[in-house]
Amino acid sequence: MTIVNGKSFKQRAHEALNDEELRGNFRKAMDGLMSKRAAQFSNEDEWTRLRALGESIKKRALSKLPDLLVQLEENLTKNGIKVHWAQTVDDANKIILDILKTHDVKTVVKGKSMVSEEMELNHFLSDHGIKALEADLGEYIVQMAEEMPSHIIMPAIHMNKGQIAKLFKDKLPDTEYSEDAAELTAIARKELRREFAEAGAGLSGVNFAVAETGTLCLVENEGNGRMVTTVPSVHIAVTGIEKVVENLSDVPALLSLLTRSATGQPITTYFNMISSPRQDGEKDGPKEVHLVLLDNGRSRVYKDSETRDTLQCIRCGACMNHCPVYTRIGGHAYGGVYPGPIGKILTPQLEGLNDYPEHSSASTLCNACVEICPVKIPIAKMLVRLRDENSGNCPHGEHPLKGQGAKKSTIEDLSWSGWKAMNTSPTTYKLATKAMSKMGNLMPSSMPMLSEWTSVRTKPKFASKTLHELVKDMDVKND
Ligand code: SF4
Repeated sequence: MTIVNGKSFKQRAHEALNDEELRGNFRKAMDGLMSKRAAQFSNEDEWTRLRALGESIKKRALSKLPDLLVQLEENLTKNGIKVHWAQTVDDANKIILDILKTHDVKTVVKGKSMVSEEMELNHFLSDHGIKALEADLGEYIVQMAEEMPSHIIMPAIHMNKGQIAKLFKDKLPDTEYSEDAAELTAIARKELRREFAEAGAGLSGVNFAVAETGTLCLVENEGNGRMVTTVPSVHIAVTGIEKVVENLSDVPALLSLLTRSATGQPITTYFNMISSPRQDGEKDGPKEVHLVLLDNGRSRVYKDSETRDTLQCIRCGACMNHCPVYTRIGGHAYGGVYPGPIGKILTPQLEGLNDYPEHSSASTLCNACVEICPVKIPIAKMLVRLRDENSGNCPHGEHPLKGQGAKKSTIEDLSWSGWKAMNTSPTTYKLATKAMSKMGNLMPSSMPMLSEWTSVRTKPKFASKTLHELVKDMDVKND
């Protein structure tokens, strides 16, 4: 089980639920994002068609994933981009460190990259004497606060303007205190400009890697992604292997689904297509471009036809914005890099069920995430699969996940066996319901094992008659 700051998921969730300021910050932000997204997809027919197209593009790409990755490498190499394959996060970190050491880089400026969070790259580089500075405003804020992102699109969404203003004043004492968003942004921009000019390398994520042309597509709003990928003389892009798409013509539909689902924007301010390092005669751009392709458990997820759907994710974050659990406990409670519904299925699959046994249970299976997901990932179905994997009872699992049986409980197994035996035989069912109706009257209103349940509910009344007897009674009355 993942313990963060000495607390379990359950403890962190309880703490978040009791933090009124945090809940207020999330409620306000999520309400805004939900209504913006709803306005973007007000035409039900268009949403249905575009969504089906997005799903089919991702499914097609995944069905050909091994071939497309080879094609991507061939075309990127032709374009002058160096490709590196990393099985684990350790491999990926070492590859990046080697590139940086070769160029004697002391500072790296970073665009937003959740994969680099997965790799804990900033800590790794810091341990090797290299400073990694986040250039996305939200990431810049959480780095300053020494926190993890609480949302995959808006890392500092858990903080309000007052909290950010106080943080800036504490960490940048030479600046004026301000709660004005434009002034806070200007402070960050001024600090970052200097770093862009001096950094030896830039690092970014990738939204779509196009196999057909060897192009890396990067979606962003702040222009920091363009600075990171053009100003320093070395650019390193890092991505999971699932981000590959087959053709350039696949990108517009996915881009439209991504931006409209994520922030309710018809399109983002910047859309970067990186096809090569700086060419002769060009005035800017990096002299060297690298792509690190990270597996980190994704091929295991890929092998199983059911869990493979997880890899369709385009990281829009809409499932978080609409999740009744995420919107109340926020992102940090989850303890992993990916919070919310996608985190509940992705994190245990990548890291292992034994580290995240509680994730799949932290859901009512209300289906809000499934209805909103622009590429139709069956998150609720996957949560049920992970619950089965957790209990060790997974008859439909083609490829057992790492840590299968993490929540195996003999008591639970025996209870379900008893429940099955009772409900599959009319005689035992009749005997059991009669016995329960007698015992029900003797039950105290609060029971130690069920105290959390009974403290807020009325004790259930057991049926005094079997279903068969009730139907018979009704027939008699109707006669
Ligand atoms: S699971 Fe769907 S809704 Fe959630 S981040 Fe991924 S693409 Fe977006």
